[in-house]
Amino acid sequence: MNLLVGPGILEQVTEHARQAYPNEGCGILVGTYAAERFIAIKNVAQSPTEYEMDPAELIHVLRGLRSSGEQLVAIYHSHPHGPAQLSRTDIDRAYYPEAAHLVISLADLERPQAAAFRIVEGAALPIELHAIV
Ligand SMILES: [Zn+2]
Repeated sequence: MNLLVGPGILEQVTEHARQAYPNEGCGILVGTYAAERFIAIKNVAQSPTEYEMDPAELIHVLRGLRSSGEQLVAIYHSHPHGPAQLSRTDIDRAYYPEAAHLVISLADLERPQAAAFRIVEGAALPIELHAIV
């Protein structure tokens, strides 16, 4: 139930969040059992307070997983100013309930915070985030 991420993945995701700043960044983490690969997806909302993964890009990437044998492990997005928590909107718009959700908060740019959740019955349940070193 916890979210395991491969070496360097959290760093890649945090770097992506910084590049997307001041807008939200988003993407997915895929792998066979842990989140072993980060794939950035364009945020078509282009907003500091919401994200919407480019549907065409997402479908293309998810199709590619059929041949690579990887699975969708987690969905990531950043909160440029908000906390490392899922908002009500994040929960309501979670189209892939089986995936974990990783939020990177840049509220303190010097010290980004990462937190992981699962959405269970319409509520965000915090889960442990483990980076494999
Ligand atoms: Zn959010």
